[in-house]
Amino acid sequence: MNSGNNHGGQVDLLLRRGRIVTMDRRRRILVDGAVAVRDGLFAAVGPDREVSSSVTAAVTRDLKGALVHPGLVDAHVHAGNSELSRGLAPKDHADYGAVDGWLFAHRRPETDHLGALLSCMEMVMNGATAYSDTGGSFFLEETVRAVEKVGMRGMPGYVVLDDNPAVPGRDTSSGAMSEEEGEMLRASTGECLERLEDQMVRYPFRGGGRVRGAATLYGCMRCSDELLIGAKALAERHGAPMIMHQSWDPEEAAVSEALYGRRPVQHLDDIGVLDGNLTLVHMNHLDPAEVELVAGSGARVVHCPAASLRRGMGAVRSGAFPEMLAMGVSVALGSDGYSGRRDVLRQAYLAAVGFREFRGELPVLTGEAVLEMATLHGAKALGLEDEVGSIEVGKRADLVVHTLDRPEAHPRFRDPVDNLVYFRGSSTVDTVFVDGEAILDKGRFTRFDAEEAYRMIDEAAAAFEAGIGASTFAVWPLVD
Ligand SMILES: [Zn+2]
Repeated sequence: MNSGNNHGGQVDLLLRRGRIVTMDRRRRILVDGAVAVRDGLFAAVGPDREVSSSVTAAVTRDLKGALVHPGLVDAHVHAGNSELSRGLAPKDHADYGAVDGWLFAHRRPETDHLGALLSCMEMVMNGATAYSDTGGSFFLEETVRAVEKVGMRGMPGYVVLDDNPAVPGRDTSSGAMSEEEGEMLRASTGECLERLEDQMVRYPFRGGGRVRGAATLYGCMRCSDELLIGAKALAERHGAPMIMHQSWDPEEAAVSEALYGRRPVQHLDDIGVLDGNLTLVHMNHLDPAEVELVAGSGARVVHCPAASLRRGMGAVRSGAFPEMLAMGVSVALGSDGYSGRRDVLRQAYLAAVGFREFRGELPVLTGEAVLEMATLHGAKALGLEDEVGSIEVGKRADLVVHTLDRPEAHPRFRDPVDNLVYFRGSSTVDTVFVDGEAILDKGRFTRFDAEEAYRMIDEAAAAFEAGIGASTFAVWPLVD
């Protein structure tokens, strides 16, 4: 990827005078930088005095010194029906299992759409331009409609898990998925493979669109070997990545040992699924041999700190993410589902501080390392490293501009990394470009009416609240 400024001439958009964290090979930070965009791609990136004098732009924006970085990648999110109940019925509540049944019975195309819309809006407002879901959709086209409405890149997927004989009798106290939920969601192996093929045919990974299909599975010992092997073959045939949850709780290792006499990641290797096309989400509980296997395989990992912290699952206590990064494993960041807000920079902050606190060492993961996880590694987790993840000539023009109009944006120094990771986070995200199109412009969505969306989301959520019963979960009296 050429990061120089040798593509002058006529361009569609010129962004001048930004403080640009490029994430290019040299990790240049352009203190007074500019980018030019042509046909949705970065045509020139460099110091403002060089870029601005070499191009003629249809539209020019003066960023007046605002912070700019590549569009962030939320490498693991759930976007669908269940999003409408978050904040009402927490998954860490003892009665959560009953909620699953209600939600499943009341899933409708419109609720899938509104849940996904809420998730996508939140991701973009927090600076993400691409996400992957290991399967949160019952009505995939409704999720796709939400992704397209917002205008971000999305890799949504059907819920895909089959009849792994290891599932019955499993301890579900960790709340990854209740027995009831597993029972409702599972389908036959054949049906699961049909769903995967369907999403990869309808939304081709190599088709260049903002919505891409991949082999996205539930994982976590909930899928049979036949399904995993079949999904891998489908992923290869369609040139798409395979992505699934793995090693969320320690119980998975016990299930795998009992069933196969091997640890979970060893088993994935045994059946030929563990390779450079696989992205594994969570990976909280690996033994040293599994870490070595992952490093040798080229498989990518997604760390979801908030999801683990909320439920005490051990991502910081047991996770070997700093070690995997040191071994050359690509480790991205994900907001996941019920853990809290869809915010990659929140995950970056937690990744930066969590290991220091638990291990009593500094720095373990630096601010620079967690920004690489949020951008470059995120792009790799989605198989999009040739297209996004950095601001370089030839890549797609996905970037985030922060406002100067909040205290967290000040004081401004030439090196903005510490300020971004520990002070601003996403609080100053202002304008978000995808393919050079401003899908969020000074805090306003450009493709649809956000107020109308919030109204419909709250209406649908009110029906959820009435159906599930807020009083089941409320600790303090709700007084009308
Ligand atoms: Zn998840």
